[in-house]
Amino acid sequence: MDALTINETHRRPADTGQDPKPRWTVEQVEGLFDLPFNDLLYRAQSVHREHFDPNTVQLSTLLSIKTGGCPEDCGYCPQAARYHTSVADQDLLALDAVVAAARLAKEKGATRFCMGAAWRGPKPRDLDQVIPMVKAVRDLGMETCATLGLLKEGQAEQLKAAGLDYYNHNIDTAPEHYGEIITTRTQQDRLDTLTRVRAAGLHVCCGGIVGMGESRKCRAALIAQLANMDPYPESVPINNLVQVEGTPLYGTAKLDPLEFVRTIAGARITMPKAMVRLSAGREEMAEGIQALCFLAGANSIFYGEKLLTTGNPDVERDRALFARLGLRPMVVKGEERGERGEA
Ligand code: SF4
Repeated sequence: MDALTINETHRRPADTGQDPKPRWTVEQVEGLFDLPFNDLLYRAQSVHREHFDPNTVQLSTLLSIKTGGCPEDCGYCPQAARYHTSVADQDLLALDAVVAAARLAKEKGATRFCMGAAWRGPKPRDLDQVIPMVKAVRDLGMETCATLGLLKEGQAEQLKAAGLDYYNHNIDTAPEHYGEIITTRTQQDRLDTLTRVRAAGLHVCCGGIVGMGESRKCRAALIAQLANMDPYPESVPINNLVQVEGTPLYGTAKLDPLEFVRTIAGARITMPKAMVRLSAGREEMAEGIQALCFLAGANSIFYGEKLLTTGNPDVERDRALFARLGLRPMVVKGEERGERGEA
């Protein structure tokens, strides 16, 4: 199929009233990746403008509330206990420390505060401590997001009741590549958690990581898998691998930055109303490439000095880049916390 004629396949089964079928095949998404760069960006920017102000970017701040010592074996992650990296373990932060960090993030312009913990999944007593954090951050008037690992039955509902807006859980990479990156949890485990998150009425934040030695077809398959979720995630973080010494993926051949831009464009075209987040890897990314990512439809970034454990461009540099590009922070209106105009 000619990739330039795919427009109509954006519709979700719910829109057409037809039986569910994949909205995007891997081949169709690969067709997007194969377009001449200018055609791809023109198309992505056109889709972007149909749904968003192209000159606003949503700002999220991410805080690691519990760092390191994770029993999982994600090959990219310096927080896995089994890899010897420079990341120092840190127990769950106190409520006061989390609230202080959220207040500071708000003062600096962030509208969403994401709390991440390096667990396989939260135990009941862990969740008992996270829930007051969610409530306190929401009381500051910020959107709340948590990334705590796999959720068991009932835990998503507890978080929803506490006022959580978003739950982040990434599928990481395409199914055919997944086993080379992680062996301690299957992709189905992740999908089960996402089902629980969705069923509890939370917004889904789900994306993946590129630059992990995968093929272009694999990147296309990752995007297709995300786009075919029904509904697709409200928030789609696209991460460029940050290589950390001591992790198995350290030393992987680096991804061509323009291929990263293509991945952003693929996400924008296939998930037109999602917030597409330019996530990890931004510190190492030239500002020209970041500008191309915004042109390709990225409209959310992590803002602040650190991601979970790796660097992020500092706030002043981001402000300067926004000024040079004429970008403005996106304003989140109280009642309209959901970012899509649909349920
Ligand atoms: S990505 Fe998350 S689950 Fe995997 S090792 Fe790191 S902290 Fe643990």
